[in-house]
Amino acid sequence: MISMGNSVEQDRVSLFITMQRKMKMTRLSPLFSGSDGNCYYIGSAEKGILIDCGRSAKQITSALSGIGIEMKNISAIFVTHEHVDHVKGLKTLVSKYHIKVFATEGTIQEMNVKGLINGNVDIFPVSYGGMAWNDMEIRPFRISHDCREGVGYVITTSDGRKTAFATDTGIVTDEIKTALKGCDTVVIESNYDENMLLSGDYPYSLKRRILSSRGHISNEVCAETVSELVETGTTRIILAHLSRKNNMPCLAEEASVSRLTLGSMKRNSDYILHVAEHENNRLKIVY
Ligand SMILES: [Zn+2]
Ligand SMILES: [Zn+2]
Repeated sequence: MISMGNSVEQDRVSLFITMQRKMKMTRLSPLFSGSDGNCYYIGSAEKGILIDCGRSAKQITSALSGIGIEMKNISAIFVTHEHVDHVKGLKTLVSKYHIKVFATEGTIQEMNVKGLINGNVDIFPVSYGGMAWNDMEIRPFRISHDCREGVGYVITTSDGRKTAFATDTGIVTDEIKTALKGCDTVVIESNYDENMLLSGDYPYSLKRRILSSRGHISNEVCAETVSELVETGTTRIILAHLSRKNNMPCLAEEASVSRLTLGSMKRNSDYILHVAEHENNRLKIVY
C-alpha cells in the first residue's frame, strides 16, 4: 500500500513537473502571414509578445484565442515596419488593451505621419543593441525594403533558444545573414515564384518594386538562404509572407526542400520545415 501511495505521489510530482516545463516551453505561432496581413505570436503557453499586427483587432484576438492565448497576456507588440499589412490592427488593439509597442525611431515617425498611431499609443524605440523584455531578449536587424526604417527581430527566449523573423526584404544582406546565423528557428520570407510574378497581371511598376533590392525575396533566394542556415545549425524553418497572387505554398516548399535535399539535408531529421498559412494559422511550434 505504501509503495503504491508513493508511486501515485511520484506520478503526481512528475506530472506537475512536466506541466510546469510545458508552460515554460517556447511557443511560436504564425497567426497570419502574407501580403494580406502579418502577425506572429512568440512566448510561452501563458504569455508572450506579437511581432506585427497586420490584421484587424478582432481577427487577431480570435486567432490568439484559437491557440489558447488571451489578449491580456500579450505584453508588447514589436513592429517591423509601417506597411499596412504589418500594422492594420495596431491602433485599435493597443487602445483597447493598453499594450506597449516597440519599433525603430524611423518607423515610429512614419507611423505618426501616416496617422497609424495616436497619442493613446504607448510606443517606444527599439535599440539595435537589443533589449530585455519579460524573460526574452529582443534584437532588431535592418531589412532592405521600401519603408522608412524596417527591421526583422531575433528573439532569445528564456530557454536560450533563438528565433528570427526575417520578412519584407528585397535582398539577404550581410547584416541579415549575420543575424540569422545560429538561430534555432527562422521565419523567413518566400514571397514569390519568379515565373508566376513575371507572367502574372501585376502592373510593370509593381513587378519592378517587388523584384528590386528593396522589395521581397523569391522562393529561389529564400531556398539558397535556408540551405546555408540549415548547414550552420538552424533546425526549424517557417516559410512566410507568401504572395497570394504570385506564389503557391507547394512551390515555396518545393524550392526550399529541393535545395536542401541537394545539400544532403534530410527533412524531419536534419530540419523541420513548415509553410505559414495566410489565415488563422493554428500551427504551434513548441520547443
Ligand atoms: Zn512591407
Ligand atoms: Zn509585408
